[in-house]
Amino acid sequence: MELLTILNHCHRHRGFVYQHARFGPDKNSIEVHVRPREGAAAVCSGCHQPAAGYDHLPERCFEFIPLWGFLVFLLYRMRRVDCRNCGVVVEEVPWGDGKHQLTRAYMLFLARWARKLSWKETAEAFHTSWDQVCDAVEYVVGWGLEHRKLEPIRAIGVDEIQYAKGHKYLTLVYQIDQGLTRLLWVGKERTIESFQGFFTGIGEQLAAQIEFVCSDMWQPYLDVIHQKCSQALHILDRFHIVAKMNQALDDVRAAESRQMAQDGYQPLLKKTRWCVLKRKENLTSQQKFRLRDLLRYNLQTVRAYLLKEDFQQFWEYNSPTWAGMFLDFWCQQTMRSRIAPMKKIARTLRAHRELLLNYTDAHK
Ligand SMILES: [Zn+2]
Repeated sequence: MELLTILNHCHRHRGFVYQHARFGPDKNSIEVHVRPREGAAAVCSGCHQPAAGYDHLPERCFEFIPLWGFLVFLLYRMRRVDCRNCGVVVEEVPWGDGKHQLTRAYMLFLARWARKLSWKETAEAFHTSWDQVCDAVEYVVGWGLEHRKLEPIRAIGVDEIQYAKGHKYLTLVYQIDQGLTRLLWVGKERTIESFQGFFTGIGEQLAAQIEFVCSDMWQPYLDVIHQKCSQALHILDRFHIVAKMNQALDDVRAAESRQMAQDGYQPLLKKTRWCVLKRKENLTSQQKFRLRDLLRYNLQTVRAYLLKEDFQQFWEYNSPTWAGMFLDFWCQQTMRSRIAPMKKIARTLRAHRELLLNYTDAHK
């Protein structure tokens, strides 16, 4: 069976013909030449109507789904058309569009895998870059938002991810309705303007029907939620708070460990990182033993650890009143602890007391 036969079977486009397939110059890729079918008119990318040909652009390559370890490229010289409505514009091709180097088929393929693996893992698995995976997800999500009639959304979660070695951010908005979790939107940066873009995208009517919004404590998100979703119950995300607390604890432990080494004490805190960061039930028996040993000492790390563990109880309350009393007590204790990173957390939690108590309300 020939490669072209397979392509004609799974990726056939009226008006275009696969001409021939050969190895690329490096022998790591397969190049498939595509040409317009005889007599088939080009389609204007402005108004999607057939239009008279004008000239050709240089050959471009569109990346297709890799096959047996080979990268696959479709090579095609885009035509320009002289359209009665739009003037001289580049033609529309069914397998891709002007802005993306990847074919639609490949973007769909990557975006599907990116739901199961992390974006980084997806990029590694298919020998492509993180940016390409991100581009693919963004494209597929954007396409979905444009083409599907959005049903009412009950709950959304907004999250940020760092990329480019932590220098850049994306804002991701998920639908988190019961039994339906999906990525709804991807935005550049994590600014007020960027997150507002999501609400512009879904329109005021849908935004007004959202009942729950989950987010971390990033101020621009809080501002936009307040402005666009004032009717919704706003919940601070448990995982973000736990992550913040672990970060604080890790800072305390690292600083104290350095200090002890400097002062010439025994390295008590060596190899304790996971003992204090992991949930108790996930510790190995050796880690459990180390933790028990560690807890005998009056160290900042130990006190910070106990505060963190104590806070777990907050998530168990069903009544906002009891949860509120617990929160106030916890913050008071923590403010007296003289452990700066933990005190900082207590101040943040106090500042968002109302949103935090919504968590218990929402879990009833
Ligand atoms: Zn046109």
